[in-house]
Amino acid sequence: MISITSKTFFFDNLSWPEAAKASSQKGSTLVWPFGACEQHGPHLPLKTDTFFAENILIKTLARLPEDLPIWMLPSQSIGFSPEHVSFPGTLSLSAPVLLALVSEIGEQIASMGFKRLVFFNAHGGQIGLLQAVSRQLRVKCPSLAVLPCFLWSGVDGLDSLLPHKEVEEGLHAALAETSLMMNMAPEMVALEKSIDMNHSQLIDSVPVPKGWSLEGAAPCAWLTEDISKDGVIGDSNGSNAALGESLEELLIAHWRNLFFNLMESDWPPVSQKNLS
Ligand SMILES: [Zn+2]
Repeated sequence: MISITSKTFFFDNLSWPEAAKASSQKGSTLVWPFGACEQHGPHLPLKTDTFFAENILIKTLARLPEDLPIWMLPSQSIGFSPEHVSFPGTLSLSAPVLLALVSEIGEQIASMGFKRLVFFNAHGGQIGLLQAVSRQLRVKCPSLAVLPCFLWSGVDGLDSLLPHKEVEEGLHAALAETSLMMNMAPEMVALEKSIDMNHSQLIDSVPVPKGWSLEGAAPCAWLTEDISKDGVIGDSNGSNAALGESLEELLIAHWRNLFFNLMESDWPPVSQKNLS
């Protein structure tokens, strides 16, 4: 078993000549963990999303073959969290600031010669923003592939581990996140502070217009205080470390496959527009 700390995939462990060599490799890829500093109920720390993005990514990259040209950037630990700002502790960048930050760093990465930038994001509230800036960056720097992914999206098998209601409505600090933290860093979970409000019923009583929903096809851009008293959205009842262990393994296996496939691929493709 290779120790994670012995791995050389931390970008900021490189010297500048190593960074220059890294960027020139075929398919050179940087992965930027994206989290938030935002309330996660009374029982989880503000850094929950950053912790997951960073630690799941480290464990995922550790399972890839040693010689792949992929490196992890320092985490972005303050993100776009306006839905939570009425809860103390939450720090949020405005959308224009985050867009500017990501664009500037993305352009520098492209001009160094890296071929791909992946956003490994664990905060659901900034999925749209990262998708938008990815498209913008792609236009500005066509040679740089930009892939904005979300930790919990598209993971086959989540339905078999979590109740349907949690998958649909367990948006924040509920069963999945609480269990995952109980497994990965139990000392950071204060379960005794988790208030049992019967959150499922609380969500059912939110007067969402007929045919619309909190998330999904016709979403409502909710604020946390619309739905929750203590910041939990969903139900953290029944959270346990064994479930967290299964979730962790599922997430790591899923993203390991996706990163492996990305590194095997020729993405981004050659522009078809100017081909005769
Ligand atoms: Zn979260």
